[in-house]
Amino acid sequence: MSSHEGVVQQAEIVALEIRVRGRVQGVGFRPTVWRIARDLGLSGEVLNDADGVLVRVGGDERSVAAFVERMASEPPPLGQIDRIKTQAFRGNLPHQFRIAASVSGTAHTQIAPDAAICDACVAEIKNPSDRRFRYPFTNCTHCGPRLGIIKGIPFDRAKTTMAPFAMCEACGAEYRDPADRRFHAEAVACHACGPKATLLRLDGRLASGGRHSMRDSVDAARSLIEMGEIVAIKGLGGYQLTCDATNADTVARLRRSKRRDAKPFALMARDLDIIRSYCSLGGEEQRQLTGASAPIVLLDGGGSKRLPEAIAPGLSTLGFMLPTTPLHVLILEHLDRPVVMTSGNLADEPQVIDDAAARHRLAGIAPYALVHDREIANRVDDSVVRIMADRARVFRRARGFAPAPIPLPPGFEEAPELLATGGQLKATFCLVKDGAAILSQHQGDLEDAAIFDDYRKTLTLYTELFDHAPVALVADRHPEYLSSKLARELEQTGPLPLIEVQHHHAHVAACLAENGRALDAPAVLGIVLDGLGWGDDGTLWGGEFLLADYRRYDRLGTFRPVAMLGGVKAAREPWRNLYAHLVAEMGWAKFATNFSELDLRADLSRRPRTILDAMVRSGINAPKASSCGRLFDAVAAALNICRERQAYEGEAAARLEAIVDQDTLRLEDEAFSYPFTIEAISGSHLPCIEPLVMWQALLGDLVSKTPAPVMTARFHKGLARAVVAMVTNLARRDGNIGPRFDTVALSGGCFQNRILFEEVVRRLKQKNFVVLTHAQVPPNDGGLALGQAAIGAAHLIGANTDQSEGSAPCASGFLAVS
Ligand SMILES: [Zn+2]
Ligand SMILES: [Zn+2]
Repeated sequence: MSSHEGVVQQAEIVALEIRVRGRVQGVGFRPTVWRIARDLGLSGEVLNDADGVLVRVGGDERSVAAFVERMASEPPPLGQIDRIKTQAFRGNLPHQFRIAASVSGTAHTQIAPDAAICDACVAEIKNPSDRRFRYPFTNCTHCGPRLGIIKGIPFDRAKTTMAPFAMCEACGAEYRDPADRRFHAEAVACHACGPKATLLRLDGRLASGGRHSMRDSVDAARSLIEMGEIVAIKGLGGYQLTCDATNADTVARLRRSKRRDAKPFALMARDLDIIRSYCSLGGEEQRQLTGASAPIVLLDGGGSKRLPEAIAPGLSTLGFMLPTTPLHVLILEHLDRPVVMTSGNLADEPQVIDDAAARHRLAGIAPYALVHDREIANRVDDSVVRIMADRARVFRRARGFAPAPIPLPPGFEEAPELLATGGQLKATFCLVKDGAAILSQHQGDLEDAAIFDDYRKTLTLYTELFDHAPVALVADRHPEYLSSKLARELEQTGPLPLIEVQHHHAHVAACLAENGRALDAPAVLGIVLDGLGWGDDGTLWGGEFLLADYRRYDRLGTFRPVAMLGGVKAAREPWRNLYAHLVAEMGWAKFATNFSELDLRADLSRRPRTILDAMVRSGINAPKASSCGRLFDAVAAALNICRERQAYEGEAAARLEAIVDQDTLRLEDEAFSYPFTIEAISGSHLPCIEPLVMWQALLGDLVSKTPAPVMTARFHKGLARAVVAMVTNLARRDGNIGPRFDTVALSGGCFQNRILFEEVVRRLKQKNFVVLTHAQVPPNDGGLALGQAAIGAAHLIGANTDQSEGSAPCASGFLAVS
């Protein structure tokens, strides 16, 4: 009888080998597997290797099935399973399920982004009887630093900036115990063994006791902030500057000393209730603020309280985040008001990460610094997110998001390894590996030498972390972008071929790629509204309608090209674009006669018109640009909302958006919106959005002293109508063969404007177009590298399978083909 039972049991025993790929290392995946296996009484083992996690498990059939099911559905908080593959296993298995030693090899696995402190760790640092009470570097497997501390692979303590801190006995025991939340948490630390925070005076004077709290350095920093001081904080991915956001004098002092005249300051508050007293907070906003990525979320002001105007001059939004590290939690714990939490730098320089540089560069801004003795390995800025059309849209992708890979769409499975070097402003780069795109964290504007240095350093790090060996380079066609020059240099000095990609085509491809649009899907109409990009005809583009897939594009429409008077100066000084627009559209004489009573006329007539007109005639230092961004600048200048100078890219457009009157936008008859026409550019058949009638209506409203909020609403609505009219015109084809495209992809920095974005999306959907938009990667040039990577990969895949594709990448060609 018993032997019979034994046979039956024997027959039911199964053993599987399970391969798990995705973000499964350094996130507590093995202990999760171990716990489930022990729960179910299974035998076997789990280990890390170069491909991810390998599980061998044995037991009765039903339990093994339950195991696979639970492993797939209960990943640890920071884990993410991309693929699970199972096969029968025929070897011996350890009777008690165990975590086996890792097997090293080439890297095909993922590095998790930095994650905000988890609830369990918050509870510990607030609990007076916990051994980590008030310990500012507390973390566990489910939270804490990753990219900010990593220096190489594999991701273990020896390859991080935690290497100098030998674990104490208690931390070591937690680290080795699979049942503990800190099992293999590489940054595990405590008061006894980990980094320590210290408060310094940066101005060289002795830190005097008595004035502030002496409970500990962190609390001392908190009391200094309450007293109206500016304090530099050594954060996770860089130094930050903080002060009481409700103290107008301190905020003004911070602006002056940081030499940052208008760019909005990021804010941090202890909890959602404090944020809610200044902003309106929807469900998705709350989810973003409290998630593991914990970005800065742009929120509409509109709570019961107001912050000083100097926090975000001229804007209606505030950028808030919650405390992201234990250090921040402890500073804010007893502060019942928001603080400024801005990057520690002067003007446009990169955020300081080096202690010596901080003392040198930040001393003139902050008399005090809360520092610690752990090195910052990599500069990782705070990410920025905005909710538009009910979805979270990443505008700056850094802490909490990078370097999580973005899977490439169907058809890209065999994409070779590539490096795309991105753009010039808001630069990022992108690696292609294993069918995914790995987009770097936001680097910044490469014109700054220190930022370009950082960009190259980060590129070297990523090459090592992802064991990346590209077979080709991809870059923007712009002759002057430093990222393109770097790619050309690499091409000339090494064996790698270079694929150059048109700027706006890359924008469209980025949008297609993040939306999972298959490699061979039909072309879409890409609408790219941005500042500037290098056009194929040697002129500057920036308001483009491209029929595009990953391989080709045709420019079907654009904006009326207008001279940029003074070249780059025109991007900084909005009045130059206004003058150029008025002269190009109606001519000075007509403007001066018809609108003689406007202050605007008096203002413009005081400008150096003779020189400006000569520039227009000769085209010297006045390149023509079909730029939507410059149109926004011109309108902001006309309304005197931002006329002389933009303190940061996009300021004029952001200020225009901020004052839009919502009632006019929603309720006023469409007939009042400023009309644009669609006409062929002289000398070509290319249709363009022509603003002459818009200018006449706008200037008329200026004469009749229409309030600016009404005018900006009419402008936004009119522009959205014009864009959608262009799309419907372009979709139309003769005969009964259906529209030329049914899907539209929106990209470019102008789509960070929520009103323009939501109006265009709504109107396109009304016309039954499928609308693809950005969410995971920025619509601005921060997403460019992803599009370049997809185009480069498509070209190389095409070159392998279709010889007729030839060697000219991404050439224009739909009209010729169809
Ligand atoms: Zn934790
Ligand atoms: Zn310890």
